[in-house]
Amino acid sequence: MSKLQNKVAVVTGGNSGIGFGIAEAFHTEGAVGTITGRNPETLNQAVEELGSGFIGIQGDVTKMEDLERIFKDTFERFGKIDTVVVNAGGIVDGSPMAAITEITEDNYDRYMDLNLKSSYFTVQKALPYLNDGASIILIGSSAAHRAAPGMTVYSAAKAAVISLAKGLSLDLLERKIRVNTLSPGSIDTPVFGKIVPPEQLQQVKQVWTDLIPVGRMGLPSDMGKAAVFLASDDSSFVVGTEILSDGGMTNIS
Ligand code: NDP
Repeated sequence: MSKLQNKVAVVTGGNSGIGFGIAEAFHTEGAVGTITGRNPETLNQAVEELGSGFIGIQGDVTKMEDLERIFKDTFERFGKIDTVVVNAGGIVDGSPMAAITEITEDNYDRYMDLNLKSSYFTVQKALPYLNDGASIILIGSSAAHRAAPGMTVYSAAKAAVISLAKGLSLDLLERKIRVNTLSPGSIDTPVFGKIVPPEQLQQVKQVWTDLIPVGRMGLPSDMGKAAVFLASDDSSFVVGTEILSDGGMTNIS
């Protein structure tokens, strides 16, 4: 029996990397639903690759009206929502992570908006449409636990995301909605191409690989398997906590 048969999911940022890996795993386990992103081309391509059952809804997760529309339209199309994966985030367009001397107030606000504020309001805007007993998965990061140069603001935002899961799961106890964080370690996704020049990409990935005890970077499909667990009834006793899926990196210094 498929683990997510007849479940309806929304995966924000499902048109790339980890979000797409999660949507693929959900599809394999029998779920249907919505993937989102801002780029219509990659969104259409991802919907096509997923095959039947998933639709794409374009939207910016830092805009309240877009978040409202994503959940309203999904509910109208599928009649219910069982799972939300709050995945969109990471690097702010045109604004790489930087040292404290280079971070402007605007840069700081945009990182917090994309990675923390949007996570909170994605959950808030989903609530009117969510089933009681639903599962919400926030995507955190091993960066919340392991400092890296220039990543302070992003790391702090992701640490706060982990805290959100704890608080929200108490807030939503009455409706038996479970909220957990899935924190990826170093996962091989297009994000590295956004921050590293092409000629250095392989070298940078090797540096990350050398830090990971299991000897490889993670794959979006690794995150997909963990997300299936958190979305399914197999994790019905897992509430307000974090799964850190990083190949052991965080524990080795
Ligand atoms: P990608 O760059 O491959 O994907 C990012 C996704 O977020 C895209 O689908 C993008 O779609 C979407 N997105 C970005 N900004 C917005 C926005 N303002 N509104 C709506 N959608 C947006 O990155 P990853 O797959 O690597 O990252 C996914 C998540 O995993 C992020 O939260 C990231 O912080 C986290 N993570 C990643 C790690 C890694 O090693 N890869 C490690 C730890 C955490 P579009 O551009 O079309 O809007």
